[in-house]
Amino acid sequence: MVNLTELYRIIVTANHILHNQDVVDAFGHISVRHPTKPDVYILSANMAPSLVSRPSDLVEYYVANSSAVDPNAPKGFIERYIHSEMYKKYSNISCVIHSHAETVLSFAVSGVPLRPVYHMAGFMGTTVPVHDSQDYYGPTSKHDMLISSIPLGASLADTFTNTNSTATNSTTPQNTVVLMRRHGFTTWGPDIKTAVYRAVFMKTDAGVQANAINLREALDGVGGTNMGETEFELASLTEEQARDCKKMNEEVQDRPWDMWVRNVERSPLYDNFA
Ligand SMILES: [Zn+2]
Repeated sequence: MVNLTELYRIIVTANHILHNQDVVDAFGHISVRHPTKPDVYILSANMAPSLVSRPSDLVEYYVANSSAVDPNAPKGFIERYIHSEMYKKYSNISCVIHSHAETVLSFAVSGVPLRPVYHMAGFMGTTVPVHDSQDYYGPTSKHDMLISSIPLGASLADTFTNTNSTATNSTTPQNTVVLMRRHGFTTWGPDIKTAVYRAVFMKTDAGVQANAINLREALDGVGGTNMGETEFELASLTEEQARDCKKMNEEVQDRPWDMWVRNVERSPLYDNFA
């Protein structure tokens, strides 16, 4: 039996956690597939995630075209096609998160590949695909980088699965995260906790990798500073490490979730009336 009241409360809390953990600012969003109507998903209205606080801030949309179930619903996010096309292509997805987190954004603009560089980011796999809206613009498209149509959303959803794979019709994406060039990233989960875990630790991993690259350059004497020798190369997780760490990540994700919930419940910044 699905308790919708409880689900609304968790969605509001997840919005607050993503803000509290610096995954989203005024922009970025999290959606959930409706638990009893798989052709519908739930996303907040056009508002900052930290301000989402009550069931009336949440809007139901049809997966088919991202139109609101209630024609009188408040204004929605322009980029809600990110969510609808993920739910449409992959039936096993129950939560989608889109973010412009700065640490990740650096990898979406620099061309430096984003990799899992420590054990908490094994879910990323060994490589993170990059989607570029520019590749999908038509003659009448707006070039504002936003995923503002079904075709753009579908192209992003397709990037989650390698085109040369035999599993292109899979109900589950091959990749857990996709970088969006000059824009941000999108991730998903089979449930809210998993998706939030991935969004937070993707952001953390990107910060660690960027710092490691900077330290490595200092160590290599860039800028005239030679700090000595090192015992190992800068390297990301191997395929086996990423696979086993992903499993471990899923087994331990309740611990940070409980901490993040406490953080936002005790913070005067956030209201949850759901
Ligand atoms: Zn965006």
